[in-house]
Amino acid sequence: MLFTYGKRMEFYNTIEFAKDQDNPDELKKFRERFYFPQHNGKPVIYFTGNSLGLQPRSTADYIKQELDDWAKFGVEGHFNAKNPWYSYHEMFAEPLAELVGAKPSEVVAMGSLTANLHLLMVSFYRPEKKRFKILCENKPFPSDHYAFESQVKFHGFNPDEAIIEVKPREGEFNLRTEDILQQIEEHKNELCLILFGGVNYYTGQAFDMKQITEAGHKAGVIVGFDLAHAAGNIKLNLHDWHVDFAAWCSYKYLNSGPGSVGGIFVHEKHGHEKNIPRFAGWWGHDKNLRFKMERNFSPMEGAEGWQISNAPVFSMAVHKASLDIFMEAGIEKLHAKRKKLTAYLQFVIEETNKIKNAGIKIISPVNEIARGCQLSLIVKQGKELFNKITEKGIVADWREPDVMRLAPVPLYNSFEDIFNFGKILNEVISE
Ligand SMILES: *Cc1c(COP(=O)(O)O)cnc(C)c1O
Repeated sequence: MLFTYGKRMEFYNTIEFAKDQDNPDELKKFRERFYFPQHNGKPVIYFTGNSLGLQPRSTADYIKQELDDWAKFGVEGHFNAKNPWYSYHEMFAEPLAELVGAKPSEVVAMGSLTANLHLLMVSFYRPEKKRFKILCENKPFPSDHYAFESQVKFHGFNPDEAIIEVKPREGEFNLRTEDILQQIEEHKNELCLILFGGVNYYTGQAFDMKQITEAGHKAGVIVGFDLAHAAGNIKLNLHDWHVDFAAWCSYKYLNSGPGSVGGIFVHEKHGHEKNIPRFAGWWGHDKNLRFKMERNFSPMEGAEGWQISNAPVFSMAVHKASLDIFMEAGIEKLHAKRKKLTAYLQFVIEETNKIKNAGIKIISPVNEIARGCQLSLIVKQGKELFNKITEKGIVADWREPDVMRLAPVPLYNSFEDIFNFGKILNEVISE
């Protein structure tokens, strides 16, 4: 069966075709660098890198380096460790900048996602009497909504009034950019902040961050993004898009382990501003003066000025193991493979639909520029089908009430994974 991808690439739902794609793939070798959970003695088909990325085999060595240096040097490890802990976070500036399309001074690895959103909202959500509203996407991740509600209340406003979610049109699942822009225009005199996901966790829709930012700025509104499902997934250009700020976590596509250290972006136009309100801590203080232990906070230039505490070295060691792999693989190659893998998954699902009349609806955008590697499906047989494929060694995830999410990630998933997934899906539907 035939399907055209991009400039006339033909897809076939056969194991030969899948192998023919995998064999010449330059990124194929990276699969071996990760641990796969096992099912009946075989690696599972892991499609939940959007929820918790797999562990690189190198991770233990990165942690061991820090454990050994701690044993060997004690407190002196801050300066004498192989990777001195005092400046440990500085090693992340270059790779993170590359991942999110920023200058190194605009990013820093720190804290955790929701906490970082709060810290950034302290600086960038400063409501006034008339301008106090936050515009966000339909059904943002609950943690983000809790953050918005509590920030709004903290400033003495009513969340029901202050939080505006852009809704999809009747019968649609994704937001149209024109509708987002129209809402910005409509509410421009009351908006204080636009805070969207880069990629929505539920539908997998990637928003047009460039246009949203432009429209926000035209209306005089600050624009930030939660990149939990975007970082390490889609192509980002935060600096050039003039995004004001962003935050992400490292345990989804960035494979840095449960609850591992997050990251933030603050555009340099704000990074220079010393007087911007913020909740300060000693690690955000000018590092040349930090150990003078004096009063009078004087922030570091750039994103580093938002740091609170000294670097959580163990979780950063895990993060480094993964980022080193990303840099070695090359993000352009990852994007190219991601697009093709995702298109192949879409093809295999559509084939199953055609042949088995399976009633699977892909609610993620079909346009590759409006999605990353996640496909969200509404499945006629619901959770029962999900449970059956789980028993057969597929790790996908289920989001109530009726959505199954699949994310083939280019670092460690293969075309063969997708073919095998399709085969199991067919079997289960035929039962
Ligand atoms: C995963 C995710 C979170 C989780 O927040 P933590 O503070 O890391 O627990 C928050 N927001 C979004 C959009 C997410 O996808």
